[in-house]
Formats: sequence, C-alpha cells, structure tokens
Amino acid sequence: MEKEMASPFKNHVVIFPFMAQGHILPLLDLSKALSRQHIKVSIITTPGNAKSILNYISSYPHVYLIEIPFPTIDGLPKGCENTSQLPSMEFHLPFVNVTKQLRKPFQNILETMLESQTPPLCVISDFFLGWTLAVCRELGVPRLVFHGMGVLSMAIIKSVWVHQPHLKAKSVFDPLNLPGMKLPFTLTSADLPETINIQNHDDPFSQLIEEVGEADANSWGVVVNSFEELERSHIPCFESFYNGAKAWCVGPLYLHEKMEDLDKSNSSMLMQWLVEQTPDSVIYVSFGTQADISDTQLNEVAFGLKDSGFPFVWVVRSKAWTLPVGMEEKIKGKGLIIKEWVDQPKILSQRAIGGFLSHCGWNSVLESVSTGVPILAWPMIAEQSLNAKLIVDGLGAGVSVKREKKCGSSELVIVSREAICEGVRELMGGEKGRNARERAQALGRVARGAVQEGGSSDATLSKMIDQLRACQ
Ligand code: UDP
Ligand code: UDP
Repeated sequence: MEKEMASPFKNHVVIFPFMAQGHILPLLDLSKALSRQHIKVSIITTPGNAKSILNYISSYPHVYLIEIPFPTIDGLPKGCENTSQLPSMEFHLPFVNVTKQLRKPFQNILETMLESQTPPLCVISDFFLGWTLAVCRELGVPRLVFHGMGVLSMAIIKSVWVHQPHLKAKSVFDPLNLPGMKLPFTLTSADLPETINIQNHDDPFSQLIEEVGEADANSWGVVVNSFEELERSHIPCFESFYNGAKAWCVGPLYLHEKMEDLDKSNSSMLMQWLVEQTPDSVIYVSFGTQADISDTQLNEVAFGLKDSGFPFVWVVRSKAWTLPVGMEEKIKGKGLIIKEWVDQPKILSQRAIGGFLSHCGWNSVLESVSTGVPILAWPMIAEQSLNAKLIVDGLGAGVSVKREKKCGSSELVIVSREAICEGVRELMGGEKGRNARERAQALGRVARGAVQEGGSSDATLSKMIDQLRACQ
C-alpha cells in the first residue's frame, strides 16, 4: 500500500453497476479482487446506494466511490434508487429508462478522469446501462459489459431473441431447438424469461432490450460471474452473439473476498444456533431480492417447512407478512425466520446447512455451488428457470420443487405445502438429495480452486487487465 501512495496507480478501472442488489454485489466483489491486485477502482453510483456500498468496501484502500444524483421518477416514492425499493415489477422499465439521464454527469466524470494521472483502463458497465457505450466510444475508453447472469442462460436468451423458436412451438412445453447449441437439458418456452414472449417492436420493454442488446454486442468484452469449468462448452456460442468481444469468466466473484476475509465470528444468535445443529441437517430458504411473493404462498412455505420436520433458516423479504396463527409455537427451536439482510454466503458455508431452497437467482446458485450445498430449485422470474435446469438436470447438484406447470403467464402459480414438504424431504433425506450433495461438493472444490492463485478465474482476470493495458 505504501508503495502505491508513493507513485500513482498504473491502472484504474471504473465500475458502473445497475441499481439492483443482485447486480451491485458481484461488482463490489470484483472491485475488491481488482483492489487486491493494486488496481485503483472507482465505483459510480447514486447517493441512495452509496451508504450500503461504502459499508461493503470501506476496508479496501484502492476502491473509491463517486456519487451522482439519481433523477426523480414520476409516481415513485422519493428516495427510491434501487429496484429492491420499487413498489412493484411494473416500475422496472421506467426505472431503467430514467438512468439514461445520468449520461451527462457520467461523461463529465470520465472526462475528468482522462485528464488525471490515472486515466481509466476501461469502464465495466451493467448491461442495463447500455447508454454508457456511446460515452465510452466518444472518449475512447473500452467498455466491458456485466450481466449478472451465467454463460448458458445468456447464450440461450440471446439465441431465442435471434431465432424465435418459441413462436413455432405448438405448446409452451414443446422442446425448443437452438441452432448450434448443445443444451444440457430440455428447453421449453415455459423456461424462458416472461419478457422474451412479448418481443415486438412496438413494445417498450422489447425496445429497451434491443437498445441495451446493441450496446452489449458492440462492447469490448463481457465480464462474467461464472467459472470456466462450470460452463466452458457454452462460451463459444455465447461469444458468437458479439462483434468480437470475449467473455471473461472471473467468478465466483464473491469468493475472491471470502477466501481471505470471511468474517469468522459466530456471535449472532443465528450463527450460535447453526453451530449447535448436526452437519448437513438444516435447510436454508431464501427467494432473493426481486420476486414478489404473496402472503398465501408464504403461508404454504411455512407449513411445508414445518411438516418436513427438518430444521430451517428462512429469510423473508416481506415485512408485512406474519406467521400463520399457532405456527410460532410449533416451529420453536426447529426453525428460524429472519426478516433482515443476512450474510448469505456465510450461512451457506456453515457445516449445519445441508440444502438450499432457492429461487435460483444466479448469485444464489453460485454461492450454493461454491459452498457445496445442493439446491431445492424453485425458480420464479427472469432467467431463474434456466439456472434451475442447469443445476438440476445439467449438473445434478439439486432437485426441483414439484409444481403445477407454469402456463407461460407472468402469474406465479401457488406451490402447495405438500410439494414443498416433499421436496425438502427428498433433498435433505432422500437418495436424490444425497447424490446432489456429492455433486455440489465436488463443484464447490472446483469453484474455490478457480479463484485461487493460478486458478482459471484468477488467471483470466490478470489476462483481461494485461490486454486492456496493451490497448492503452
Ligand atoms: N436481460 C437480458 N440480459 C441481461 C439482463 C436482463 O437480456 O443481462 C433481459 C432478460 O430478458 C430478463 C429481463 O431483461 O428477463 C429482466 O432482467 P432481470 O429480471 O434479470 O433483472 P433484475 O430484475 O434481476 O434486475
Ligand atoms: N443476499 C444476502 N442476504 C439477504 C438476501 C440476499 O446476502 O438477506 C444476497 C445473496 O447472497 C445474493 C444476492 O443477495 O448474493 C441475491 O442475488 P440473486 O441473484 O440470488 O437473486 P435476486 O437478487 O436476483 O433475486
């Protein structure tokens, strides 16, 4: 560090995350990984997101935060600067669109940086901030794009967008073929993100995806939160949708930190409780930060978990929901319900955790795989169904919750308490669950190896920086 103070940094990377937890967190982990390589990192965000980001990065000497004011959006509560604060999913599109107003301040920041002693090597921008490409091009700074998704799901989404195989399918459960792609599972329209089905040039969401997709394809490279060993065979297909950009698999990003800095203290009530449980006996339950889940569905989850008889830790996002009458008594000592933000990777890494009932958001999938925890997959929105199929059918590291078939509508079908109970028992106590745990543990060893010195992701990160230096 002292050496760094004596001479200015040779390298500087600018990171601009989209304002959603699942998009910000992996990029903060990337910032830490770069900082550890003595690269200066500037993170651009809005004041409403700055506080939590600062908490996360405060111990990193080379990571700086630059704030730009968030524009006001009609009809949104004041101070709403993160998708997790949006009253409903309908606000997602206006929220993404309003970020375009950040273009001028972003340009000013970049111009100032270019005149400084440490001009940036590149800008790593979220996919949703497609407008950053034009600014980067104008100023001659390479732009790398970050999606927050895995290679296979991105390749499928891009291929479906181009080839539209679902429009020819007779039913939403007909297998779909994607030219040039070898899928590790049977793909149907029911697995596709709802938004793909509305592709039409007059639709505003389609227009947005076209627009950000165009910027994506013309970027210098793609930073991917995955590791080569997990998705290697799908990389060439994914890259074929770009005009020469390379996919740099540098994940699981959170492991770059956790390897060294994992908070070892077990002082909280939750950690103490977990330490007392038998290894592999507890199921961790979380449905991420985006999906809206009804009270009726949350009640079914509560009954299903209780009926399974397995101890559980369940993180609930809904502040308004309360346990069904009489349930608190019944689960006492067997289950913990938490309504605050938890350190999910830390929970997953406890010996007591034997399974994860998950919505299969990509970050959660990576965290589960990396800690060797098999998944009980319950995908809800976006590309989660593709992640679930990769884990269950492609990698054999999980089982699926049995459910009424999704009918291609955005309405989430209620999953019964019986299906949840059966799924938990299968994962935690059944033969399939045992096999899935073995597979997950093997994958975990590979994931952790990827970020160690000389591992695939560590080497890729260094190579990416070297190539950027060569273009400067
Ligand atoms: N999408 C995409 N590439 C991306 C991110 C998103 O094509 O890198 C599209 C995809 O169709 C997806 C939709 O945008 O279904 C909405 O994204 P998502 O729900 O993942 O965003 P989030 O709500 O997690 O911020
Ligand atoms: N997360 C967490 N604590 C919580 C809830 C979520 O640490 O209480 C983290 C979780 O570890 C993951 C991210 O938030 O890294 C959620 O991302 P994911 O892609 O799984 O789901 P999404 O946010 O898209 O629903």
